[in-house]
Amino acid sequence: MLSLESCKYLVVGSGLWGSVLAERIASQFNEKVLVIDRRAHSGGNCHSELDEETGIECHVYGSHIFHTSDQRVWEYVRQFCSFNTYRHRVLTEFGGRLYQMPIGLATINSYYHLNLKPYEAEAFIAAEAALEDIESPSNLEEKGLSLIGRPLYEAFIKGYTAKQWNLPLNELPADIITRLPVRTNYNPDYFDDFWQGLPMDGYGALFDKLLSHPNITVQLGVSFADIRGSLPVHCRIFHSGALDDFFDYALGALAWRSLRFEKEILPYADYQGNAVVNQADITVPYTRTHEYRHYHPERPYQRDKTVIVREYPENFARGKEAYYPVNRPEDLRRFEQYRQLAAARAPNITFGGRLGSYAYVDMDKTVSEALETFDKLAADRTKSGA
Ligand code: UDP
Repeated sequence: MLSLESCKYLVVGSGLWGSVLAERIASQFNEKVLVIDRRAHSGGNCHSELDEETGIECHVYGSHIFHTSDQRVWEYVRQFCSFNTYRHRVLTEFGGRLYQMPIGLATINSYYHLNLKPYEAEAFIAAEAALEDIESPSNLEEKGLSLIGRPLYEAFIKGYTAKQWNLPLNELPADIITRLPVRTNYNPDYFDDFWQGLPMDGYGALFDKLLSHPNITVQLGVSFADIRGSLPVHCRIFHSGALDDFFDYALGALAWRSLRFEKEILPYADYQGNAVVNQADITVPYTRTHEYRHYHPERPYQRDKTVIVREYPENFARGKEAYYPVNRPEDLRRFEQYRQLAAARAPNITFGGRLGSYAYVDMDKTVSEALETFDKLAADRTKSGA
């Protein structure tokens, strides 16, 4: 057991960012690292568990699909697990009918009852978008309208986004919507990324492997506040918690969205025929239904039952899980003030991960940021001759 008094490297939070950093420090510096997590499990929001009744692996904090086009990240993660060949595809329900999401030729043709070719669809969508006459879109609504025109925006984006963020759509940052491609072909993939998949043996096995180095000690159910008083002054800390919480909300609260999940076991081999079905209608209170069996078609799951989980967006309040940073200009200004406070008051602490960097990032970006944080640490260490 690593004693706190001699702790040289501490990682707070065992999600992807923290676990990758711990693994790098342990294996590349051959230094001892203490990883703490306030939760009873490692893996942060990637955590998954086998449903007791069906044996189906469920993602406890909503669907997490690994996807990347970053070769360094792909090579790095595959040292710790192999991935299956799952490629993410999403359907969305609007007005009692199912369409492909993101918006592509299948969606355009079925929504407008047309049979356009790709080159015709491009001109068609451009003409729809031109009707809106938006030159430089400055928020999500303008961006959505300028990309696909009003009918598709109102059907597939407006209701879903209003439920997801609970804010006027013209107050949301435009880049939220550019996470989704708009296509004029029949490519059904949700992500453009070349490499995609789910860890063959589950996220638990991936995190166990990342944290398995003998130099790493993991303590679960421990929060930073429990131990901060016992740490030596020179302890180098990597913290993946939110800055407003860390500074006891001294500069006010950062805006987040939260989620609630409702699980149901149904007596079917397959309930919805796809891992995720979105609900675009504003009148349906949840945004999507996850049917987790579809993430592992290679597993011999039993065929008499399936697990579905409905996802309901919720307002964030202290004590709930923070899922999405809202990232309006005023939120980013507040975050910048917290960053300056951190630089002045906690120079030995590096904040990162989705919470610590207040950024809406995917898993691969989180791994890449952890690797870059480690590179910088290694360069500083070489410079100081340690
Ligand atoms: N979005 C939408 N309709 C959909 C799916 C997504 O309008 O059917 C919008 C919505 O504003 C959402 C954003 O696109 O917040 C990003 O969606 P993504 O699926 O990337 O969100 P995540 O999986 O990170 O929750």
